[in-house]
Amino acid sequence: MPDPGAGRYAPSPSGDLHLGNLRTALLAWAFARHTGRRFLLRIEDLDRVRPGAEQRQLADLAAIGLDWDGPVVRQSERLPYYQAAIERLTAAGLTYECFCTRREIQQAATAPHGPMGAYPGTCRALTDQARTAFRAEGRPAALRLRSAATEFDIIDDLHGRYRAPVDDVVLRRGDGIPAYNLAVVVDDAAQGVDQVVRGDDLLPSTPRQAYLATLLGLPVPHYAHVPLVLNSEGKRLAKRDGAVTLADQRALGNTPEQVVAALAHSLGYDASSSAELLDGFDPAHLPREPWILDGNGLLQRSRCP
Ligand code: GLU
Repeated sequence: MPDPGAGRYAPSPSGDLHLGNLRTALLAWAFARHTGRRFLLRIEDLDRVRPGAEQRQLADLAAIGLDWDGPVVRQSERLPYYQAAIERLTAAGLTYECFCTRREIQQAATAPHGPMGAYPGTCRALTDQARTAFRAEGRPAALRLRSAATEFDIIDDLHGRYRAPVDDVVLRRGDGIPAYNLAVVVDDAAQGVDQVVRGDDLLPSTPRQAYLATLLGLPVPHYAHVPLVLNSEGKRLAKRDGAVTLADQRALGNTPEQVVAALAHSLGYDASSSAELLDGFDPAHLPREPWILDGNGLLQRSRCP
């Protein structure tokens, strides 16, 4: 039988999942299951780990009716694979050490774009002498990609052809931790993920990731970047926005089923379980606008869906 491919959800265990995260997870699951793919969970725990968060995240995903295939993968257990990818790029002459501080990068970047701003390549051509001097100062060295491209295109199910700048992305941070953009590319390929559904805040980073995959000879997955949930000020939903976690909602007397119904409603579906949502799921009809959640919005929606 041919491999059906896989979708995934890849939370960072930095705290409890909020309604925006749960909605994205529900969509990633529905996209994968709708197309007969496996659905995988990967915990992106290279940094920002809060004790107990992973367990609560998994419990909340199960509580809203999501199921996944195979064991949960943790990035912290996969460091040798990131190192191997870095070594391959280095052997191909595609990396260099960067001693810039965050401040220096901000000052030097002429046109900031994307979530990380563009790195203008200050350390690309450092002399050995300069490198030695930086090391002697005790400056940590990040490792960057020596990018031959300045822009790269991807195709996204919801956004169509999308082009964004590709700069000398960080592969390994100054503290030695593999960078997110590298880890995500290595992991998606290793896990056979060929469908990436995630929040559209990550869209600007995606051409960098696709370019990196291409350099590593890895397949570029299909992408679907879905709209986020925003608060009443139009900002990305956060914990401080009120009763935004499943635990908060439970404390208000709302069951996970009611939360699923509200999430489904926000996606244009009348469904009281994830299975029911999946039954009628049609990615072509997803809202393209963010869902604005104000204060008690969910509560009202979940009581009268
Ligand atoms: N770990 C990332 C996050 O929680 C998601 C990364 C991804 O889906 O590629 O924002």
